[in-house]
Parts: sequence; structure tokens; C-alpha cells
Amino acid sequence: MRRIDEILKGMTPDAAPKGTGGTPSERPGEDTCPICGGTGLVVPDLPVDHPEFGHAVPCQCALRKMEARRQELLRKWSDLGALSRMTFDTFVQGGRGHTPAQQRNLQMAYERARAFAEHPQGWLVFRGGFGSGKTHLAAAIANYRLALGEAVVFAVVPDLLDYLRASFSPTSDTPFDERFQTILDAPLLVLDDLGTQSSTPWAQEKLFQVLNHRYNRRQPTVITMNCELDEIDLRLRSRLLDVDMVEHVVLQVPDYRGAVPNGVAELDTLALYRDMTFDRFDLRQGEPGLTAEQRENLRDAFGFAKKYAQSPDGWLVFQGVYGCGKTHLAAAIANYRHAQGEPVVFVVVPDLLDHLRATFSPLSPVSYDRRLEEVKMAQFLVLDDLGTESATPWAREKLYQICNYRYLARLPTVFTTSQEIDKLDPRLRIRMLDATRCTIINILAPAYRGQARNAPPQTPYASRRRTR
Ligand SMILES: [Zn+2]
Repeated sequence: MRRIDEILKGMTPDAAPKGTGGTPSERPGEDTCPICGGTGLVVPDLPVDHPEFGHAVPCQCALRKMEARRQELLRKWSDLGALSRMTFDTFVQGGRGHTPAQQRNLQMAYERARAFAEHPQGWLVFRGGFGSGKTHLAAAIANYRLALGEAVVFAVVPDLLDYLRASFSPTSDTPFDERFQTILDAPLLVLDDLGTQSSTPWAQEKLFQVLNHRYNRRQPTVITMNCELDEIDLRLRSRLLDVDMVEHVVLQVPDYRGAVPNGVAELDTLALYRDMTFDRFDLRQGEPGLTAEQRENLRDAFGFAKKYAQSPDGWLVFQGVYGCGKTHLAAAIANYRHAQGEPVVFVVVPDLLDHLRATFSPLSPVSYDRRLEEVKMAQFLVLDDLGTESATPWAREKLYQICNYRYLARLPTVFTTSQEIDKLDPRLRIRMLDATRCTIINILAPAYRGQARNAPPQTPYASRRRTR
């Protein structure tokens, strides 16, 4: 049993085909090397007292052949086959009728793939529908590493499961074969099309072993999936959710098979705030009721929001009375990120808690919800109107879990609240008060155009309540 790196290490120039070898193409002839005459060895011209005097060394032609054979072997082991043409150069970032937002999303995915190809570390997961470009990006990473002379294995998961089923049987004494060991320990493994394959439990178990082995050793792995996280094996899912090790890139190009891989759509209300852009924000500089301090504060809040929108880092909290403009600023940031092609989720907290209450009960065995997961993992999230909800302790706990995950993962998140920070859930408060990860902006201005303080929020959620 040899691993690919051992096989490659074993390749010495002596093992390279010699000009005097037996195959017809290598027989001395017109292509015979003028330096070594086809022997593959040369004796360097050295002084008699040199320790290497008289020793033959590989000729350049032999070294070239060895390198070519090494590349050939690497390519064969990679199993990339027809995917060799899927490189970064051939990845089309626009076209095919994509919207500007989709093109920017593809650009973002492309850049993350390139960064991983340069320095493969941890796991990179591409999620998206058929035709979204995820396989191309995964193959491009593999081809890139291969061109650098690195060993790579590209495995299509359903094929791999077929192979595992055919090669092993649970009763067989054969432990692992060479191919399985190669997949386990490949310096870079690409698993294409991980998902809801129907296979024997035994083959599924083997697949889990591969991933668990690589997870425990933090071996660079690229995975593409076209299913939702809640549809895959629980043990595997928990590893895919390890934020220290796994980066998720969600491709937003529509699935050409017509499936809608968008669990969060029902809760995402950004579309209702499309007109809340920076351009349309009223700085209220001429409003007679505002003090100079309030005007300056509003300008500062606006300036900070614009800066944050350009490169969101950590958390941002807008705190102020109803109608002061905090939701507009949060939505303006979200709309800006959305226009950059980033997947953005805008959720009104009371809506989210309604959803949680409707979907779960504390006694329910269901502990996983796709929408909740999408909110939690969103690359950019706005949680609007935090702190007014009258929720069950259990729903509050879920909300805290979302926030804590995003805090630990340092995922950009914008909150708006009309509550004093001191009155929020203490566990949330302590995270918001961490100045290294969160900026709190108190908006001092009163409600816009005479809206009463503490009036009910003019948010659309009241009319959108779930009707289950
Ligand atoms: Zn030669």
C-alpha cells in the first residue's frame, strides 16, 4: 500500500525511462539526446580530486522525462479527466443572462476560490444549484494545484460511493486499497456533488470516514453541494458547520433544473426595503426641531454606515427611537452589499421569532431548521428591530444562538434596536459591548417628521405574519 506522495518520492531519475529502453518510441533514433546519446546518464567534467569524479548523474533529458512522467502520474491520480479544461482562465464570470448582482456573486466566489488555490487551508464548501459554476471553481482549484506539481484527488461523490460499494464489502477482509488511502490522505481532496446520494449505509459510512479523517487532520478539502445542509448526515453536518475550519461560499446563480435552493426567502424582507438606499437617506440638516448635536450625530451615523457598507467588519448596532432612521441606514448597508453581489439576508426579529414559535416547540424532536440555519450562516445579516419581541424563553434562546454563532464566526451583522442596550439580553449585551468586534451607534435624533416616540414600528411584518 503506497500513498501518492510515496509513489512520487520513489520516482528517481533511474526509474525514468531511459533512451535505451525497450519501447519503440524510446529507442535511439532521430530524437536521441545529443548530450548523453540516449543513455540518460552523463558523467560531469570534474577535477580528478573531486569527490564526485567519475560518477554518472542523470542527464537533462532524463530529468525532463521524469518531470513529465510525474505530471502524467499526478494527473492520472487526480482523476480530473475531462475536467482538466475547467481552469480559472476558462471560468466565465458573466454571461448566460446573469443579473449584475449574480455576476458580482460569481466574482466573489471566483476570488475566494483563487485565494484558496493559492493557500489551501481548511475546508472550502461551494453551495449552489446545478449550473451555478461550483464544480468549475472546485476543478479550477484542483487544476491550479496540479499545475504547481501538487498531488490532488478529484472525486465525484456518487461515483466514489459506487466505487466503495463495489470494492469493499462489510464482510471482506480487505481493509483499504490504494485508491481509498489516496483519497484519505491526498494533500488536496475535492469532493464534487456531496448530497443526498442513495447508497448503502456501509458506503455512506466509508464516505463519512474519509471526511472525518480529513477533518481531524485539518487536511485541505474542497466540497461542492447542491443540497441544503439539513439534508445531509448529522455527523457530517456538524463538521461542515465548524466555523474555525470551514468556509462556505453560496453561489446565487439560479438552479437551471428549477429547484429553489433558498430556504431563507420566506423570512428575508430586503426586497421590501429596496428604496432605502444611502442616496435616499434624509440627513435632516434643515429640520428646525433638531439640535446641532443631533444633526452632527446623524451625519456621523450616516458616514459610519457608508464606510461599514464598503467593507463590513464585525457587528454594527444602530440604537435609537422609532423613526430616527436606523432601519433606513441598516437597509442602505444591506442594499449596498447586495449590489456588490453578496448574499444578504434582512430579517425583522419579531418575524423571526414568530417563525421559530410556529416551527418548533421545545419538546419537538426537530432541532434543525433550514431557514434558521440560513439566517445564522448568512454571509451578511441584518437583524432589524431587536429587543421589542415578546418571545418564549425558548425562542429567545434560538435568537441568542444565532447571534452567538455570528459573534464567534465574526460574521458581519447589523442590528437595529429601539431598546437601551442595557435592557437587551445580557448575553447579547456583553457581546455588543466588546468594542473589538462591535460598534454601537446611538442615533440621537427624534422620530422623523413628528412620528411619536415609542410608536409601533412602521415595519411591514405586521401585515406579513405567517398564516400557518
Ligand atoms: Zn540526455
